[in-house]
Amino acid sequence: MDLGTRIAVVGAGLGGLTLAGLLQEQGFTVTLYEQSDAFSRIGAGIILSANPVKVLQRLGLEAGLVARGIKPDAYVSRQWDSGETLYEILFDEASEERYGAPYLNVHRADLHDVLQQPLQPGTLRFAHQLEGIEDRGETLLLRFANGATAEADIVIGADGIRSRVRETILGSEEPRYTGRIAPRAVFPSAQMDRLAIRDCTKWWGPDRHILTYYMTKRRDEVYVMGATPAPGWDVEQGVVEGSRDDFLETFGHFHADLVSVIEKASNVTIWPICDRPRNDRWSDRRIALLGDACHAMRPYMAAGGAMAIEDAAILTRCIARYGDPKSAFGAYEATRIQRVGEVQRISIENSWMHGPTDVDWFFCYDPCTAELADPATARPA
Ligand SMILES: Cc1cc2nc3c(=O)[nH]c(=O)nc-3n(C[C@H](O)[C@H](O)[C@H](O)COP(=O)(O)OP(=O)(O)OC[C@H]3O[C@@H](n4cnc5c(N)ncnc54)[C@H](O)[C@@H]3O)c2cc1C
Repeated sequence: MDLGTRIAVVGAGLGGLTLAGLLQEQGFTVTLYEQSDAFSRIGAGIILSANPVKVLQRLGLEAGLVARGIKPDAYVSRQWDSGETLYEILFDEASEERYGAPYLNVHRADLHDVLQQPLQPGTLRFAHQLEGIEDRGETLLLRFANGATAEADIVIGADGIRSRVRETILGSEEPRYTGRIAPRAVFPSAQMDRLAIRDCTKWWGPDRHILTYYMTKRRDEVYVMGATPAPGWDVEQGVVEGSRDDFLETFGHFHADLVSVIEKASNVTIWPICDRPRNDRWSDRRIALLGDACHAMRPYMAAGGAMAIEDAAILTRCIARYGDPKSAFGAYEATRIQRVGEVQRISIENSWMHGPTDVDWFFCYDPCTAELADPATARPA
């Protein structure tokens, strides 16, 4: 599409920020609308495997991320009771060479900060909650809860699992509660015995699992996230405060190394785990979806954000390559849906890196250079 195309991106999460940065790098005119008044420091970490990091390299952000986060020395899977190592994958210079980028763990708020850096001043409009989109033929009119309106030639919905833009394409449908909750905690590692944990460990139990990792190279801040059954949970209440005692009750029968970490946990919050069934319709005329808006997945492969960032890179390339939205969005869907579908499948199965795993297809993928599929191979209109 030509560089004069006015592009509205709704939602300044991981996917929307990345997309806006990449489109501007190509010379496009982009406005990014975010419902929040400002970004708050959500207490959570995020794993970025080499595949999304290659996109962030492209934006010149790798050094900033490495400075704030940590390159873990390994990812280790351990048996919940015996502590036996089920799988260990080392991250070092050789793995960076093989995968094309480092594996990084970082605080989400730090990632958000870094992703905003490439944006031109005035790109990001806070306090703009999208209410609806009016199709005016050659253009689209966005209406916001603050009374503002904006005109655009194409709209990208990067507005997360409860996407309003998704509703305009697929209708209204609540996310699917998976019957599990995620207790999470972020706290200074000075509170615990640092010798007990490696840089990044997942503990696998029969009906629950838990991940622990450092978020800074000084290893002074640790993140713990479990997933455990909670059939009757009231999802409507959203994120709620949790307690160390409940966390311990849930994982207290696990190996002593893990228990010694939870015993020191503070700032515990509980998140309901929701996803959506796979859906292969990501666009309609001048509107396309990206990230959780079109493929919200369970966090068990730590890949939802990675997929949103990959989407942003592929979508930017499709917009730059094709002259019209139909071809650009068709190529985007045809390139993305199969790979993302496989990641959704593995996330439901919760099998990623449990034991010996072929990781190359995932980590070696480079969204900045991967072949784009022919739009003609996309789903029929
Ligand atoms: C417990 C847990 C752990 C996870 N761990 C990992 C991990 O380690 N690695 C990984 O890659 N992924 C992980 N994920 C998944 C990852 O967080 C999501 O997949 C990712 O945040 C999706 O990015 P997004 O940009 O699509 O949406 P989001 O990051 O959710 O951003 C959506 C944005 O849109 C805004 N918005 C919403 N509605 C509107 C509206 N109407 N108008 C304007 N703005 C709006 C929101 O305020 C928000 O800023 C995890 C998820 C969970 C729940």
